[in-house]
Amino acid sequence: MEIRTVGVVGAGQMGNGIAHVFALAGYDVLLNDISAETLEKAVALIDRNLERQAARGKITAEDHGAAMARIRTTTTLADIGASDLIIESATERETVKQAIFEDLLPHLQPHTILTSNTSSISITRLASRTDRPERFMGFHFMNPVPVMQLVELIRGIATDEPTYKTLLGVVEKLGKTAASSEDFPAFIVNRILMPMINEAVYTLYEGVGNVRSIDESMKLGANHPMGPLELADFIGLDTCLAIMNVLHDGLADTKYRPCPLLTKYVEAGWLGRKTKRGFYDYRGDEPVPTR
Ligand code: NAD
Repeated sequence: MEIRTVGVVGAGQMGNGIAHVFALAGYDVLLNDISAETLEKAVALIDRNLERQAARGKITAEDHGAAMARIRTTTTLADIGASDLIIESATERETVKQAIFEDLLPHLQPHTILTSNTSSISITRLASRTDRPERFMGFHFMNPVPVMQLVELIRGIATDEPTYKTLLGVVEKLGKTAASSEDFPAFIVNRILMPMINEAVYTLYEGVGNVRSIDESMKLGANHPMGPLELADFIGLDTCLAIMNVLHDGLADTKYRPCPLLTKYVEAGWLGRKTKRGFYDYRGDEPVPTR
């Protein structure tokens, strides 16, 4: 099946990156959010990020202009229904995602493929609440979307082969690489990454190291490009906590117990870069560790 129009639900950190790469690859993109202000900010950010790519010679000024011309926005979810492909990338909460799919159902075309960019929630369960579990998949992008090469494709129990093949083709057209994962909590990347981040928070919580020593240790000692706490701030501490809870509940193993310090940061509203404070404070010129 050929995909021409793409609807993206949620214009946060991930949604704006997804809109960016699809528009650049030639798809017509309709971006939706409940907040008009978020949509405005997302479009301005996409424009700046495309500008930066053009300045580095990665794309031409024409590519930049053409990509911007392919992006439209709406606060009305129903407008998205006419798209060939829908990518839900709203807040990582199952009730939020379920409500979005429920509201979308009456407005979909028969051939529309539904996908979720969820980091951890069961694709099979989300799909089962729709009228088309066979045309439903996990479509998991990495942050920042324009930079990261990998896309995880997650088949629910009912996903059919044409849907999987269609998304493989889309990933190829985006110039990215697909990895297929079975539908188990947090899939592949976050099943491995999040327990490491959670362990880094435990290391901080138990006083084994401070923020700087933990991040330096993993950068210089394990050759990671970012320290785990810096990475957690980048992902969003609310998203990290949500993923640990999905692992804990879904696999029923205490080794996935979210660190109480991670919960405390989230309760404080210190969610990382997006709120300007997390394991580091980003309000000044340089990030300053908060512990
Ligand atoms: P975010 O908090 O930056 O953005 C979420 C957006 O969803 C907000 O703009 C919010 O207004 C919007 N939203 C909430 N309810 C909505 C609704 N009913 N309709 C339309 N929009 C709604 O979060 P994010 O980091 O962009 O994460 C979005 C999704 O991407 C989550 O499922 C997350 O797990 C997944 N994800 C995140 C990362 C990451 O590194 N942050 C990586 C891969 C996947």
